[in-house]
Amino acid sequence: MDFQTKLTQFDPAPGDPLRPTSTPIYQAATFEQESPTEFGRYDYSRSGNPTRDVLQSQLALLDGGVSGFAFSSGMAAMATLASLVRPGEEIIVGFDIYGGTYRFMERVVKEHGVLIRHVDTTRIDEVEMAISPLTRLLLIESPTNPMLEISDLRALSKLCRQNGTWLAVDNTLMSPYLQRPLELGADVVLHSATKALCGHADLMAGALICKDTELADQLAFRSNALGTALGPFESFLLLRGMKTLAVRMEAQQRNAEELARWLRSSDEIVQTIYPGFSDHPGHALHFSQADGGGPVISVRLGTPERAAAFVQATRLFHTTVSFGSLCSTISLPYNMSHASIPEEQRQTKAFTPDLVRLSVGIESTNDLIRDLSDALNAVCRLQPC
Ligand SMILES: *Cc1c(COP(=O)(O)O)cnc(C)c1O
Repeated sequence: MDFQTKLTQFDPAPGDPLRPTSTPIYQAATFEQESPTEFGRYDYSRSGNPTRDVLQSQLALLDGGVSGFAFSSGMAAMATLASLVRPGEEIIVGFDIYGGTYRFMERVVKEHGVLIRHVDTTRIDEVEMAISPLTRLLLIESPTNPMLEISDLRALSKLCRQNGTWLAVDNTLMSPYLQRPLELGADVVLHSATKALCGHADLMAGALICKDTELADQLAFRSNALGTALGPFESFLLLRGMKTLAVRMEAQQRNAEELARWLRSSDEIVQTIYPGFSDHPGHALHFSQADGGGPVISVRLGTPERAAAFVQATRLFHTTVSFGSLCSTISLPYNMSHASIPEEQRQTKAFTPDLVRLSVGIESTNDLIRDLSDALNAVCRLQPC
């Protein structure tokens, strides 16, 4: 089946004789057992829940893994994955990463005696130099957020395999509709399902998908031991949101492509960064491993004041920290989602305070362009270029 068909044509309630056409919410903490010595399929919802199980099968199917796991947030997924790394071992993390990932690695994982190293994974030679027998996990984003830089997923997979390191790709920005890292050789895919997978900005969830059964067993054990799994109601909502992933991403990406071109032609914008541009430095590589530029664009306004005025002046683009929703949003990553990343590190990637990130929704292209145009005119009046 093609991806679009997989999104809607699945068994929503395996084994249910009433044949509901959507997945029932098994809002139960416990399941009664046959007897004290004979157990049923489910006993306790932390360990297993029928609603979550349907979601997890869908997650595995869409990303091409053997097993999928749903968590209470993207960070809960990350914490569960990081718990596989022992004290004395090392995690290499890409340079331009989500602020919450940076904070978690530097201020939580490090405290448990795991070595954390930050490497520019767009440079394969730097990863080759950094990776060692101690390196248990390489965690990257591609495209990165907000700088939208591309790493070579096939080459990194190969390097990791030679070194006995797991490659985990945080695929939040692309979603499995546009990019499936397991097919390119990665060992684990991570999602903040709060973003594109859900698509409606109405729940928090995370996901891990892997293709090795032994790793899957370890993740299942840890999800249960740590208690990081997603509840039944959120599992239902996420399943519901995921059914429209393809149509949402298509519409969002189409809008993003048009808006990126429009922004680039505006005199008020110093730089427009979008992987869909054929002259983006990672364009060819990105399109060899993904099916589109995605819904996110970053622009530079020249000064932090102009950037703040622009974010403030948009009406349809709501100022929120998240992205990937079907509603257009806008943010200043420097002050918002990525405030936890130290100044020195941001500087090396030209991640400046005048950077604005737009996540494009499914609204009409004309209305979105008019909104951006009005906002830029307002910026010009307040902060002439
Ligand atoms: C939001 C985000 C996370 C964290 O996910 P939560 O659902 O907010 O816990 C991790 N990685 C990326 C790339 C994100 O954007």
